[in-house]
Amino acid sequence: MAGISELEKKALKLIEESSDGILQSDLWKMMNLDSREGSRLVLRLVKKGLVKREQVIVNGRRTYRLTIAKTTSEPVSVKIDISTILDIPCATCPFINDCGPRNFHDPRLCPLLDRWLRAKIRARSHEREISRTTSI
Ligand code: SF4
Repeated sequence: MAGISELEKKALKLIEESSDGILQSDLWKMMNLDSREGSRLVLRLVKKGLVKREQVIVNGRRTYRLTIAKTTSEPVSVKIDISTILDIPCATCPFINDCGPRNFHDPRLCPLLDRWLRAKIRARSHEREISRTTSI
């Protein structure tokens, strides 16, 4: 890992190995660090976005539980159904680059978009009506 010291790597490995996270004081003990060094180390890891620090109460004392922060580089899977907007007039509109609020071509005043939206609303109402009458 670039930009990470050996000490930080060691701390990350220890945090990663603990399934539920690790108390920061336990981490310091495992690494033979005093509280000042340990705090600085943890704050550096938090600042780099590598570690998440959550305040917890253990034996009546306030401390922090450390866990590995999820990286933003992890792939995120999101399913989006665009089938209902495939026929939107904007998709093939020659004015799309000039269209915007208060422009000559304005989506709030566009008859093509208005007609398309009204047709969608009618179709949706029709579907609801059909499903309502067939479920009776
Ligand atoms: S709102 Fe109307 S003018 Fe604007 S991009 Fe869509 S279809 Fe074209």
